[in-house]
Amino acid sequence: MKKDDCIFCKIAAGEIPSRKVYEDDEILAFHDIQPVAPVHFLMIPKDHVASLAETGPEHAPVLGRILSLAGRLAREQGSPDGFRVIVNTGRVGRQDVYHLHVHIIGGPDRLPRMIAPE
Ligand code: AMP
Ligand code: ZN
Repeated sequence: MKKDDCIFCKIAAGEIPSRKVYEDDEILAFHDIQPVAPVHFLMIPKDHVASLAETGPEHAPVLGRILSLAGRLAREQGSPDGFRVIVNTGRVGRQDVYHLHVHIIGGPDRLPRMIAPE
């Protein structure tokens, strides 16, 4: 289901443009508008769900499909030797856009270590 004020629902519906990486009937992958590495794209379920914390068993198939597709897309996008998967969740996870999205971050070279102490 689409949520009217949700930017990623609008991207999924084609109402806001995106640079598409992959699309099928239930998943969209598109390049992050502010990439933090040479490869940085987002994978979303087209149906609105606010965050990973809001998911239930009914979301397991699409979440599984997203994760099992990530490696192929990452390789195709130029990240042949691995990548990082980030799902910022809620206030503590510093989520900005409240439509569940999986960041796939990589490139030809190693990424910085995961979280630096502040
Ligand atoms: P977060 O919710 O913290 O995981 O971050 C949201 C991510 O969405 C950020 O990396 C943004 O750069 C990205 N983003 C926001 N708006 C767009 C957009 N219109 N197209 C592509 N990426 C976007
Ligand atoms: Zn949405």
